[in-house]
Amino acid sequence: MGIQNQFMSYLEYKVFETQEIICPECGWKGLGKELSIEEYSEEHGIIDFCCPKCFEHIGFTQPPMKSEIETKDWLVIPSVF
Ligand SMILES: [Zn+2]
Repeated sequence: MGIQNQFMSYLEYKVFETQEIICPECGWKGLGKELSIEEYSEEHGIIDFCCPKCFEHIGFTQPPMKSEIETKDWLVIPSVF
């Protein structure tokens, strides 16, 4: 389980929220839920996340069922750093 210090592409839905993320670009360190949303594709149900500090792409997650997602909660994650 040493991959968390490296570039992450796939973030496990819900699980990554409490995982420690380290930005490979600027060294920002925090929890997955603190990441900024880079892009949300409603069509594909894929949410891209980037570093809240330098906006480097960190990874994406794909929620299992669209109908079960509370996406709106995700979309208000503040990015004031
Ligand atoms: Zn960064």
